[in-house]
Amino acid sequence: MSETQAENQEFRILSPRSPGAMGWIGKERLLPGAGLGTQCIHGGAAPDPAYGAVAAPIYETSTFALLDIRTSAGFEYTRAGNPTRARLEEAIALLEGGCGAICTSSGMSGVLTVFSLLEHGSHVLCPSDCYGGTYRTLQHARKVHGLDSTLLDMTDLDAVEAAIRPETSMIWAETPSNPLLRLLDLAALGGLARRRGLLLAVDNTFMSPVLQRPLDWGADLVFHSTTKYLNGHSDVVGGAVVAGKGREDLLQRLVTLNMSLGTSQSPHDCALVLRGLKTLHLRMAAHEANARALAEFLDAHPAVARVNYPGLSRHPQHALARRQQKGFGAMLSFELKDGSPAAVERFLRALRWFTLAESLGGVESLANQPASMSHASMTPEMRGKIGITDGLIRLSVGIEDPEDLKEDLKHALEAR
Ligand SMILES: *Cc1c(COP(=O)(O)O)cnc(C)c1O
Repeated sequence: MSETQAENQEFRILSPRSPGAMGWIGKERLLPGAGLGTQCIHGGAAPDPAYGAVAAPIYETSTFALLDIRTSAGFEYTRAGNPTRARLEEAIALLEGGCGAICTSSGMSGVLTVFSLLEHGSHVLCPSDCYGGTYRTLQHARKVHGLDSTLLDMTDLDAVEAAIRPETSMIWAETPSNPLLRLLDLAALGGLARRRGLLLAVDNTFMSPVLQRPLDWGADLVFHSTTKYLNGHSDVVGGAVVAGKGREDLLQRLVTLNMSLGTSQSPHDCALVLRGLKTLHLRMAAHEANARALAEFLDAHPAVARVNYPGLSRHPQHALARRQQKGFGAMLSFELKDGSPAAVERFLRALRWFTLAESLGGVESLANQPASMSHASMTPEMRGKIGITDGLIRLSVGIEDPEDLKEDLKHALEAR
């Protein structure tokens, strides 16, 4: 190697140029108008400015060398900002149609960050059948942060309006709900929030932006547990909060909170979620096709009393689902006719492809008994009031071959 070659070699490593971006210039402008699949693949995916890497590099570093006193290359400390996390935030904001996003270390740390936007003494409305962790966070926030909350049936819009107080500042919505798959009317809640000067935040975990975009219906913030469909491979815990178009004020406050609360997500986990996002559109289509087939099968089975799936025409809110969602998703629940502990146990033990586990949204199918698992922290009275019986089974339908899944359910339903 000649001396100049050696110098060049060193130059390439220490002072990277910005190659590989030729085809990218202009793509960024096309992205907002591109199809969802194109957005899943190209969102946050500009070639790396160092070497043009096409796959997002993982900047596994806690800190960044300054270029000069008071001058950074854009990032200083990973809790405050990291290039890998910035890519994921850009990708999720694009899919939801927002002005920007923050990515958090878990869904729950994202929920905490959203509630931290609200001042001491303010008040939040939340659905009584919200995610259990959200309920627990609100209990904590009441005691520690002076944030009051009212849990109510949000399908009743008059009740929502009547629960608004002078100090109410936010409506937190979650649709469809877990595990009963009840829907909330997002356009109506968006209109109400605007009229009464409230923020509307929507937990969009069950649908993903492929099937529902709450910002289009008037929400100000969208929340995701990226642990579920956005990552989709059951190997990360994470969250995201997206601020709507024109809500740069909210985004700025979220960014500051994510940094100061220390809720931000690690670069490595961000890279995994970014990788998951690339196939989100394909996975959602496969998940849903399987869920529809299983919902119809269960609906016709004599051992099943009732199936909760918005895709069934007999679901009481099927028309609303058609209006505000682009699909029906892959979460469903059903009630065994015989809801005795022995019958439920027999069913769950007989399953082979469905794994008995908490969580949802991964490529593998999971089964859950809400009364003893995801909703065990609720009192039996509260479960009874909402309609979570002991014979209720929740399924997160994966993307295995539908015939295998159907056969599995059939076998377990008929197990003796
Ligand atoms: C899982 C989940 C959460 C909480 O997210 P984690 O990533 O488990 O912290 C919040 N809301 C919904 C609807 C969820 O399914």
